[in-house]
Amino acid sequence: MLDYNHRLGIAERVNASIDAALIAEREATPPRTYLGASRLGHACERALQFEFAGAPKDEGADFGGQTLRIFEIGHQLEDLAIRWLRAAGLDLYTRKGNRPEGEQFGFSVAGGRIRGHVDGIIAAAPAPLGIGVPALWECKTMNAKNWRACVKDGVALAKPVYAAQIALYQAYMEGAVPGISANPALFTAINKDTAELHHELVPFDAGLAQRMSDRGVRILQATDAGELLPRIATNRDFFECRFCPWAERCWGLPG
Ligand code: SF4
Repeated sequence: MLDYNHRLGIAERVNASIDAALIAEREATPPRTYLGASRLGHACERALQFEFAGAPKDEGADFGGQTLRIFEIGHQLEDLAIRWLRAAGLDLYTRKGNRPEGEQFGFSVAGGRIRGHVDGIIAAAPAPLGIGVPALWECKTMNAKNWRACVKDGVALAKPVYAAQIALYQAYMEGAVPGISANPALFTAINKDTAELHHELVPFDAGLAQRMSDRGVRILQATDAGELLPRIATNRDFFECRFCPWAERCWGLPG
């Protein structure tokens, strides 16, 4: 029987190799040249500006192997949710032509500087489900704590960044899918710990979409003008700042 140290050794070697491969893949991916509409609900406009401008993250703040695996598992779970919803009778389009090789549905505004890709569009649903169509479909995976908060308070309260994304996507997809903003979006939340599902209909919030759209414009304009948008906090100990990958850069600047 292999001893403990030997078993630990193989785990460390294989894990480290996987992490190195994932990080290398990530580093080889060209950086985004646009502001992701899914991010516009982020609490801090300056952080969004750093992200859009491609400002280097603080040392050690780049995504590690574990975070990259969490992202990838989330994507795989979204594919499962598509299968489950289709099994329940929803006519769900996730790619053009509904072919795996088809392009994702999405939008591009402000000369291509704000873009988003939608998880899906529901074209038809069994009447007893009470889903008006066409409807936007947005899926997120989360840990049990966040999932329970969504179930208890609803996505708008528990996860305002997701609510902002949904509102913006409904607004921006209206041109390509007329009527999509007239129907509530279907939000799916998968509990990664228990495989429990939460579903919620999210009516279009035009005011929120407008505020987020204005925010996007403000970030583009400030970046073009070489101006830095204000910090979200007056103190570096603020919650958002403690987890911000640009905290060193931000608080090292004069204003
Ligand atoms: S450190 Fe705080 S204020 Fe600065 S960009 Fe990050 S979240 Fe915003």
